[in-house]
Amino acid sequence: MQPDYEHLKRPPYSSTSRNESFSAAFKGSCFCQKVQFEISKDRPLDAKFCHYSTCQQLHGAPFQWAAIFEKTDVRFTKGTDLLIYWNAGEATREYILPCKVSCDVCRTPIMDEGRNMLMLFPTLIQFQSSEERRNFYPSCHIFYSARVMDIQDGLPKFETHKGGRQIPEVRESEDRIGKVASLVEPRCVQHSD
Ligand SMILES: [Zn+2]
Repeated sequence: MQPDYEHLKRPPYSSTSRNESFSAAFKGSCFCQKVQFEISKDRPLDAKFCHYSTCQQLHGAPFQWAAIFEKTDVRFTKGTDLLIYWNAGEATREYILPCKVSCDVCRTPIMDEGRNMLMLFPTLIQFQSSEERRNFYPSCHIFYSARVMDIQDGLPKFETHKGGRQIPEVRESEDRIGKVASLVEPRCVQHSD
């Protein structure tokens, strides 16, 4: 039984966002497809690779790929009654922003919802071409000081937030050319979001 959450009455959860101007550029879903959503824009406001340790743990991945949208640019078309929430700061499943939003059936992480924006995970979007996916390619790495591996992609690598201090990209020496990355020592940073 879904609690009578007030947030389900507004975008991106509510059908109230199904106005005349909303035209789906992309469709996406969780792994089990019981939660489905649409995006009205052909590209995000920005996209980033986030290496923050909480993201590493909650995603079971070395880093997170997130695309930033206005909440009104996304609408759930199926399964809002199956969404579960996790606020890492308060360590609670109550709906408290900012929070991670996942499917309760297959547990796919769907988005991070902030107070004003949301960060959707592009791996869930059904891209029809590599050109479409390219519009979601990250502009930078953030919280790179918490990385578990070095990345050589030429993108700016910020110690914490975008616009802050940058960390120079480590170039592999000749004898290591061919390897994508090398492991780095664990370190801790504070996420101020
Ligand atoms: Zn699912």
